[in-house]
Amino acid sequence: MTSLKDIRSAFLDFFAARGHAIAPSAPLVPQNDPTLLFVNAGMVPFKNVFTGAEKRPYARAASSQKCVRAGGKHNDLDNVGYTARHHTFFEMLGNFSFGDYFKAEAIEFAWTLVTGDFALPKDKLWVTVYHADDEAFGLWRKISGLPEERIVRIQTSDNFWAMGDTGPCGPCSEIFYDHGSAIPGGPPGSADADGDRFIEIWNLVFMQFERHADGTQTDLPKPSIDTGMGLERIAAVLQGVHDNYDIDLFRTLIDASVALTGRPATGEDAPAHRVIADHLRAASFLIADGVTPSNEGRGYVLRRIMRRAMRYAHGLGAREPLLARLAPTLADEMGGAYPELARAQPLIVETLRVEEEKFRSLLERGLKLLDEEVARLKPGEALPGEAAFRLYDTYGFPLDLTQDALRRQGRAVDVAGFDAAMAAQKAAARAAWAGSGDEAAEAVWFDLREKAGASEFVGYVHDCAEGVVQ
Ligand code: ATP
Ligand code: MG
Ligand code: MG
Ligand code: MG
Repeated sequence: MTSLKDIRSAFLDFFAARGHAIAPSAPLVPQNDPTLLFVNAGMVPFKNVFTGAEKRPYARAASSQKCVRAGGKHNDLDNVGYTARHHTFFEMLGNFSFGDYFKAEAIEFAWTLVTGDFALPKDKLWVTVYHADDEAFGLWRKISGLPEERIVRIQTSDNFWAMGDTGPCGPCSEIFYDHGSAIPGGPPGSADADGDRFIEIWNLVFMQFERHADGTQTDLPKPSIDTGMGLERIAAVLQGVHDNYDIDLFRTLIDASVALTGRPATGEDAPAHRVIADHLRAASFLIADGVTPSNEGRGYVLRRIMRRAMRYAHGLGAREPLLARLAPTLADEMGGAYPELARAQPLIVETLRVEEEKFRSLLERGLKLLDEEVARLKPGEALPGEAAFRLYDTYGFPLDLTQDALRRQGRAVDVAGFDAAMAAQKAAARAAWAGSGDEAAEAVWFDLREKAGASEFVGYVHDCAEGVVQ
């Protein structure tokens, strides 16, 4: 079996042999873009190279980039546990051309790697192009020899990429692998394309145009290439499994989770083990890159990931910190490729353990309250926003944790009601403080309180206290 590590190396070697500089993965916290929560694609660290603002000593590069998609524009948190192909943390393999080669070479490289070095059978592969991109369609016909009906023209913006409202943009072309008719889902472009039968493995972006503030587009003088292939997805294909969570790395993590909980990774318990393995990776890599759990911004995303995993661990009967005890298995598996993970081991274990211990009793009490609230509801009735807000405010339940807990019952949360309860509480707190005379102190207090979250700041639930102002 080809291991994850071997596939990563094979990809990088393939592009090194074709003149690409191999760039190490950048940290998950973007170094060049304060507006972005986390690096969520291989091209992010190269943004300024694509726009020309930054110069590098090479015109083509390849990398395996750490990515997190758990907030902001790309958020796959809710998918984890339930699809075969989504993680919150994953590695994106990519090759990049900065005004060097363009469509023909990019397609040629991808096709050679996938059908040559990786030896995937041609009859399992499908390709999409942007509907107006006749050039890409023609190149795929010529280079791959795929029949026309397996080169699907996509009408939607799914196959058109833009860096932002202005800047480089252009059509995309994606390669899909057909995992077979036993799995539900239609081919790309069909009405049921969102299933897991035809899985997107590689996205090629052709940066061809410059988009201007007035909405017009002009040709880039030197078009560029940005590609992204999910390492775990190509590993599933090469290891002959359908599901990312059945690849070598995830089997090891899930086996460890099974051993510690004594619960099988099949049937009802399967999603829990998947969530735990995935969220363990995301949390550990975020901590290794300097993120700490908190109540705002990046730290809150980390906390949401950890708490979501803890709810599943609790569901498996784990009463001792589980993630902290699984962290060494992850370090064994990935610390070689990512030394920062090995270096940060003590910090990772301690951060996970403290968060797990602090949240445990709140989680138990909150889940009990949730059961009582749900018992009062009619079948299919949504949980009132006020109840979800109480779980958030008093028990530290992120909204998505509550939503996820109700998912199996097919029950939703009244999100508008939740937002209203949050707004009402803020307004009431402000009114109660008004007129104290010390406006500067008030401003500081409200600012802190907003950042820390309600009870966690006030500290009336002791094991929830954050230590912000104690
Ligand atoms: P999908 O449609 O399956 O959600 P995507 O179109 O959002 O994927 P891209 O933004 O094109 O994905 O990212 C490039 C590649 O990265 C994808 O082709 C896929 O192989 C991989 N990838 C994207 N999101 C994830 C994820 N959440 N977990 C694992 N791999 C991913
Ligand atoms: Mg996606
Ligand atoms: Mg897609
Ligand atoms: Mg895509």
